[in-house]
Amino acid sequence: MGKSRKNRLYGSVVALCLLFLVAAFSSQLSYAADVNSVRLWRAPDHTRLVFDLSAPVEHKIFPLKSPARLVIDIADSAIKSAPTDLEFSETPISKLRYGRRNDKDLRVVLDLTDDIKPRSFVLAKHGDKHDRLVIDLYDKENETVKTVSEVTDIGQGRRDIIVAIDAGHGGEDPGALGPKKIREKDIVYKISQQLQKMVDAEPGYKAHMVRSGDYYIPLRKRRNTAREVRADIFISIHADAFKNPQASGASVFALSRRGATSETARFLASKENEADLIGGVGGVSLGDVDEMLAGVLVDLSMTASLAHSLDVGARVLGEIGKITKLHKHQVEQAGFAVLKSPDVPSILVETGFISNPEEARKLNTFGHRKKLAEAILSGVKAYFQDTPPAGSLVAWKKYGSGEVSHTIAKGDTLTGIANHYRVSVNDIKAANGLTNTQIKIGQILKIPAS
Ligand SMILES: [Zn+2]
Repeated sequence: MGKSRKNRLYGSVVALCLLFLVAAFSSQLSYAADVNSVRLWRAPDHTRLVFDLSAPVEHKIFPLKSPARLVIDIADSAIKSAPTDLEFSETPISKLRYGRRNDKDLRVVLDLTDDIKPRSFVLAKHGDKHDRLVIDLYDKENETVKTVSEVTDIGQGRRDIIVAIDAGHGGEDPGALGPKKIREKDIVYKISQQLQKMVDAEPGYKAHMVRSGDYYIPLRKRRNTAREVRADIFISIHADAFKNPQASGASVFALSRRGATSETARFLASKENEADLIGGVGGVSLGDVDEMLAGVLVDLSMTASLAHSLDVGARVLGEIGKITKLHKHQVEQAGFAVLKSPDVPSILVETGFISNPEEARKLNTFGHRKKLAEAILSGVKAYFQDTPPAGSLVAWKKYGSGEVSHTIAKGDTLTGIANHYRVSVNDIKAANGLTNTQIKIGQILKIPAS
């Protein structure tokens, strides 16, 4: 082999190596994560953008002024295809743009028309949900807090009974999935709307929709809403799925402070409680410490409202049993986070198993949903007819003057009676001229308006 020939051979080997290097380098242009899609939800007080990711990412957000923008930098990632179907009307976003911040990082810019308070967090892969990056844009001026008189419309001891209706899941969290792409969040929203219409048509009753559209609300916020609007009852509506597609029938749940009453109850409770992971609370659990400290104080009223929950639950279950198959013939109890209101009787109605093809088909019809709403309302009305809240129109109609009296029965305590009518022990004592908490069987107490 001559020298020049050898050199040429070296030359080609070097060239080949370079080629490999270039190839290796350009494969670096693939990124640690792909943004597969971008979705958008509008809630009454905020707008949520969800980036669906192929892997976890690191990110940073910061606002820019004049013109107002929000910059979202996502490390080592790329957008696969341009998001085209985002509906920005009624949101503070006018446009979403994106480009490369540098070789590695993606930069997304939101052009804004309004002042917002941004918040962001990542949701790790969970079940069939992939990694997500969530950007919440909270509206600034929309922080209206309703006064008590606005929400309850108290008029001369004839106020409306407030029924808080909580359609389960929503937005990012579809809930259980049935055949033919039936989604729990849609079915239960329709039942809730039907129930709302019927409640509002009922004299002396007023509905409050906890969720008023297709967006997610954390479980704790749902039950807090019920307390904020001074609800007399909280009804969470679901249609769940079980591992076994044969499982069928409706059930009604109340909170259990200890164990669940059945295996199904335990399973459903753990699944419903998972909603926050899917719906995006970002693992932030606010106020847990307060809750523990308050626990002792809450205990008493919790026990009282649990007895009410079981009572109204049994009536609702009885009515539902007239129109559809029941899963269990008594109110079940399990640790549903959404039911943990210390002072609002709360029930969770599983309207049927969406995983059961026949029940899914029925739940998808207007007629069946209407019957379910009617049954729930009948149960609720029967309960309030028996034990109307002091000061309500229903109480006024029942007792003629809005003045409620209570005849002491065996086992009654002043605290129990106060909880029952939602008035304080001191108010009862004052209304009846009592100097201590001793009461006698057969004694009639005047119950002051709450
Ligand atoms: Zn559910």
